[in-house]
Amino acid sequence: MKEFIMAQQNGRNIPSEDKIFGISRLANEMIEKKGKDAVTNATIGALLDDDGKLVVLSSVVEVLRNLTPEDYAEYAPIGGTADFKKSIKKAAFGKYMPNCFTEAVATPGGTGAIRNTIANYSKIGDQVLTSDWFWATYSSIAGEIGRSVTTYSLFDEAGNFNIAAFERKVDELLSVQESLVIIINTPAHNPTGYSLTLQDWDNLLNTVKAVAAEDKKVTLFIDVAYIDFAGDPDKYREFLPKLENLQANILPIMGYSSSKTFTLYGMRCGAMICMTPIKEIAEEFVRVCQFSARASWSNCTRASMVVLSKIYEDNTLLERVNEERKHYCDLLLKRGKAFEEEASKVGLKIVPFDAGFFASIPCPDPDGASKILQEEGIFLVPLAKGLRVSVASIPEEKCRMLPGKILSVLNSMK
Ligand code: PLP
Repeated sequence: MKEFIMAQQNGRNIPSEDKIFGISRLANEMIEKKGKDAVTNATIGALLDDDGKLVVLSSVVEVLRNLTPEDYAEYAPIGGTADFKKSIKKAAFGKYMPNCFTEAVATPGGTGAIRNTIANYSKIGDQVLTSDWFWATYSSIAGEIGRSVTTYSLFDEAGNFNIAAFERKVDELLSVQESLVIIINTPAHNPTGYSLTLQDWDNLLNTVKAVAAEDKKVTLFIDVAYIDFAGDPDKYREFLPKLENLQANILPIMGYSSSKTFTLYGMRCGAMICMTPIKEIAEEFVRVCQFSARASWSNCTRASMVVLSKIYEDNTLLERVNEERKHYCDLLLKRGKAFEEEASKVGLKIVPFDAGFFASIPCPDPDGASKILQEEGIFLVPLAKGLRVSVASIPEEKCRMLPGKILSVLNSMK
């Protein structure tokens, strides 16, 4: 029997239920039966407080509550309002002042930025490169628009960024493709929590510069969805100056999201921001990305744009938002460190971790391990190469409890 009745598959792999939401549903069913204390739901990709409630920045909510009806109702320009574009660049760059042409185009969250980058900077049929531990949505987005994702191994044997594997793959792809989009999710990578070091950045950029011949077009998409939950905002932006003034055929595009930074997940507010020494490349970026926006989601929510504009025109308010976020960022960092410390104490091998919402455990049968853990009330996300733990969604004591439990399940499977 054909899989679809009326719909066309068009080469896509469309599961009947999203894997993460499916497991989360099972966790909620167990909570109904056995109560909250019996269940650890570490599948959720949002920051929850220690009582399991979504963290929402009250300083941001206050701004939202004071918007006018027009702020909600009126269409926004396709590329975003002028104030929004200024504000989101400030949010993305922080104290860093880019010494190159930068343009921002509004997108519905970071997801829209990924979609528009692949659509405009790769050809139909191209392979898009990312690391072997990756956010599965990259693959869905690429497949949806007639591209696919291929990977390099993120870590070498010593647990360092695998520059040799990266170079091999870039070289291989550029020998058969004219264009190449490379997605780099840092800092606080989903699903590992890894952040590229400044040395990793130098190695990566030197490789791309050396391999990208003049007739090739390379787009570095830097997915910074978690940049404001990695730690010190200035320290985690130190890599940015390395991206200005690369050779003209290497175009960095930042995918910036307000989902986590301003707890505006559902407001679908983000931007793609290009950095280039060539004015015409920046102008072309605006032209093609606005065209794609018009042809897919049209414009984004004006209300979220006004919220960001209001925050960045009022320094006192901005400080309040930053302070409030810092409080929750510190809470998240403590959870991550607790998980990492405990894993090391009990001898559970985890993927190199730095910060952020997630940590991962490599294992040979992630689906099998996930099912056994579910019987014990522990819900994690099985990935191709291991299990993902969302430290963002569980309190510190559960972060400390998990490594021992996971280790004993993995040992029982040997
Ligand atoms: N990139 C990564 C790696 C993510 O995990 C997410 C969200 O989960 C996003 C981008 C973008 O999210 P949004 O579209 O909500 O901004």
